[in-house]
Amino acid sequence: MKKIIIAIDGYSSSGKSTMARDLAHRIGYVYVDSGAMYRAVTLYALRHGMVSDGKVDKDALIAALPEISVSFTPAGSDGVQHTLLNGEDVEKEIRSMEVSGMVSPVAVIPEVRHHLVALQRSFGEARGIVMDGRDIGTTVFPDAEMKVFVDASPEVRAERRVKELKEKGEDVDFGAVLANIKERDYIDTHREESPLTKAVDATVLDNDNMTIPQQMDWLMNLYEHTIHDK
Ligand code: C5P
Repeated sequence: MKKIIIAIDGYSSSGKSTMARDLAHRIGYVYVDSGAMYRAVTLYALRHGMVSDGKVDKDALIAALPEISVSFTPAGSDGVQHTLLNGEDVEKEIRSMEVSGMVSPVAVIPEVRHHLVALQRSFGEARGIVMDGRDIGTTVFPDAEMKVFVDASPEVRAERRVKELKEKGEDVDFGAVLANIKERDYIDTHREESPLTKAVDATVLDNDNMTIPQQMDWLMNLYEHTIHDK
């Protein structure tokens, strides 16, 4: 069967990654979490003293880009894979509130985006890929055969994120998580370089009142229709 590219874009904590990973696992595709790549670059900047008073030293980070490589471990039997920063497993660190607080300012830097978009395109060369992010259907793979734009209210997204972080043992405050989500929404939709926006040919999934299995059925249905039409 012909392999296609599936782009899943949307707001922070809208459940994109879970559905993208589950879909890839189910149909035997490679899954790439592009947000994890921006998070890994942010962790690099934090670890190398390139952030002070909430500001990124852009020049230092741009100069270091050739030394930053981001990759993923192969998916386990459950489809879960870990993010590697220069070969080191940083999956846990990149999900911290410290990284979440700095990732959007890092992601506005055009050179960072160009570096990661080139890497993302190389992952998709063989097609058969599900990638989630903010600009996958608009910039990374404008020719993707299937595009989904996921939407949910900030409050529902914050609740999900708090639950997820608590399950991982991080003690977080709902108000702080909600503020971070709203701030990232603002920065992601207002930046100059490939802002978060729905691709004209994307199908919207509003998942405020949907369970994970319901979302999966919706997604599989769209996938089957898309493949059928090819
Ligand atoms: O998807 P996740 O919330 O982990 O992404 C973290 C951040 O990375 C986003 O808030 C956004 O600023 C940035 N990002 C991006 N473009 C992508 C994926 C993520 O700018 N394709």
